[in-house]
Amino acid sequence: MSRYPNLLAPLDLGFTSLPNRVVMGSMHVGLEDRPKNLSRLAAFYAERAAGGVGLIVTGGFAPNRTGWLLPLAGKMTTKGEAARHREITDAVHDNGGRVALQILHAGRYAYHPLSASASKSKSPITPFTARAMSSREVGRTVDDFARSAALAREAGYDGVEIMGSEGYLINQFLTARVNQRRDEWGGTPEKRRRFAVEIVRRTREAVGPDFIVVYRMSLLDLVEDGQSWDETVALAKQIEAAGATLINTGIGWHEARVPTIVTSVPRAAFSWVTGKLRPEVSIPVIASNRINMPETAEEILARGDADLVSMARPFLADADWVRKAADDRSDEINTCIGCNQACLDHTFQHKIASCLVNPRAAHETVLSLAPTRRSKRIAVVGAGPAGLAAATTAAERGHAVELFEADAEIGGQFRLARRIPGKEEFAETLRYFTRRLELTGVKVHLNHRASAAELAEGRWDDVVLATGVTPRSVSIPGAERANVHSYADVISGAAELGPRVAVVGAGGIGFDVSEFLTHVGAHGIAQDRDAWLAEWGVTDPATARGGLRAPERPESPRRVYLLQRKSTKVGAGLGKTSGWVHRSTLQARGVEMIRGVAYQQIDDEGVHITVGSRTPRPRVLEVDDVVICAGQEPQRELLAGLAAAGVSVHVIGGADVAAELDAKRAIDQGARLAATL
Ligand code: FAD
Ligand code: NAP
Ligand code: SF4
Repeated sequence: MSRYPNLLAPLDLGFTSLPNRVVMGSMHVGLEDRPKNLSRLAAFYAERAAGGVGLIVTGGFAPNRTGWLLPLAGKMTTKGEAARHREITDAVHDNGGRVALQILHAGRYAYHPLSASASKSKSPITPFTARAMSSREVGRTVDDFARSAALAREAGYDGVEIMGSEGYLINQFLTARVNQRRDEWGGTPEKRRRFAVEIVRRTREAVGPDFIVVYRMSLLDLVEDGQSWDETVALAKQIEAAGATLINTGIGWHEARVPTIVTSVPRAAFSWVTGKLRPEVSIPVIASNRINMPETAEEILARGDADLVSMARPFLADADWVRKAADDRSDEINTCIGCNQACLDHTFQHKIASCLVNPRAAHETVLSLAPTRRSKRIAVVGAGPAGLAAATTAAERGHAVELFEADAEIGGQFRLARRIPGKEEFAETLRYFTRRLELTGVKVHLNHRASAAELAEGRWDDVVLATGVTPRSVSIPGAERANVHSYADVISGAAELGPRVAVVGAGGIGFDVSEFLTHVGAHGIAQDRDAWLAEWGVTDPATARGGLRAPERPESPRRVYLLQRKSTKVGAGLGKTSGWVHRSTLQARGVEMIRGVAYQQIDDEGVHITVGSRTPRPRVLEVDDVVICAGQEPQRELLAGLAAAGVSVHVIGGADVAAELDAKRAIDQGARLAATL
């Protein structure tokens, strides 16, 4: 008997059936837009199909040029384009999978001057003002969706997903927030719905009865003037009547100021909304957002919140997610930790997406991990993310690997990261590596600080130095006082702090320490979902349009000052898609962020600083404690000794370059090095 009977149950759709209840949600990985990249995209999907996922949904393809998200983005408008997609559909089918093409019209989210929407309007997150579509153009756009779907069928797809959520064009038509029209496409909720309903109706006509049509519907807009629950239910019923096969869940417009997928969002935080819709329709519904492990997915289905679950980023992290769950090997799953660092942050920087914990994602044809022809003896020093990636990848390729770690546990700095409220998922990466070390047969030596002499004597074919970083000390007068602490001592619990704290350095770790010091209440993977929803002002959409109400921010137990010398915005270097969440959380807790600081001294009064460069203003921050988060220096004391002994040595991760180090670079560098050894 499987531990996940609901998750692994097939779903009969009448004309076809899905082997299980897992949908790989749509992700734009950056390989969709150039014909030359479609082979790489096919390889990416093929691995996920082979891993057993029930249905793959592609990244968004536009039904016409106006609908492009970016200039020259991927579209599905001609027979030539459809023919090129054969490579994708064949690759998926050859590996036993099913795939649906997502049709996405960006509307006013387009990053180009052709953009058009229901009314003339500009979104708060894009630079272009969209013009209003004429009534004829709206009709033509409906035709374009239907034609794209017909072409998708011609290309061999098993279905399409019509993107009606996240604030894209269809969602824009649905709300008075954007749609101010007075013609047959606006003016009343019914007329505003017409665009969505006509698209589904015409799509079904164009593709025939035996083709999957998923409609991705915004169940919570999380913006002012969003849809009411009555309007959402009425739309769902009409979408069903118009011929949709499945309804997928969308949560929050992209411009919403409520986080919906970052790691601090509790697991399955929004599945209750899908559960609220499910009894209103008779077609299957799909839950989404922050579902990353089989237990969570199974609970959603067992509770009756949904018929299927959609996960997107977890399939970047692990192509074999479903197979591992089915084989009762969920402890082997490489879990998506919700960091966005290599996926969404890349997309926003117009780079090809990948995954922090799996650098092969979307690079399957580039980062080959073929078995080695000559097995070598390799010593890896340091079991932080870089060393773990290098050791396990090298061992997987057939090398005999031994890993030396000075601490009693593996993980390096990730052991601190997982203690930050909202970053508990990072523990999953250490669970994954612990298991992978066992499976790949790496011999692990804990509590073993390796020396250069010992390594030289070991006659290793290669030594990999992954010894990481040490916190940078600062030269502020008074920094040696007992109330000045390193971030490591604070996060590990070695230092206990008073109610007033200055944090020196506002990089990622300064923000994390401020979060750690100001957090109230329970946290952890099983954190209180309702408290989190209340903190961000999310409520039952039946009680408030868009599901928004005033946030209930708990009072911080500490007064915290977060300081930096630069005059740029504090937190400017944080992740594109997650930095705003950290800034807004700390602002709500009254953390004072001060930039343009010059540190004078630390004494009994507190921290003496001046602020501003032209006419520096002196200020004394009366605090009980100071935490130093001033970056790191590489730890590579073994390098000179190894080089002098003629050892073949490779330096990776923080030991290589500490500046702008993160786990994405550490893991990527470890895996890439191991692929070449
Ligand atoms: P380290 O993690 O420093 O590991 C080096 C290891 O080598 C250590 O375990 C050490 O004990 C061992 N070692 C050193 N010398 C020896 C020796 N002679 N013999 C044996 N063992 C030795 N990164 C992100 O990408 N995203 C985040 O959100 C994020 N959040 C963070 C939050 C916090 C609070 C902290 C502290 C860090 C965070 N980081 C984050 C940074 C990330 O953890 C580091 O970039 C990453 O751990 C660096 O990996 P590494 O393997 O190079 O070094
Ligand atoms: P960091 O990002 O380099 O920040 C260091 C901070 O200390 C800066 O604000 C810097 O700004 C200040 N500083 C540097 N030298 C100083 C000195 N001598 N005296 C006083 N202040 C000094 O490093 P970090 O915060 O330690 O983070 C380490 C790495 O972990 C980062 O590269 C980051 O990518 C990663 N990380 C990522 C996340 C994430 O959410 N993605 C979270 C945590 C950590 P000023 O010089 O302007 O004062
Ligand atoms: Fe998940 Fe981070 Fe990988 Fe993106 S980069 S898929 S959020 S683990």
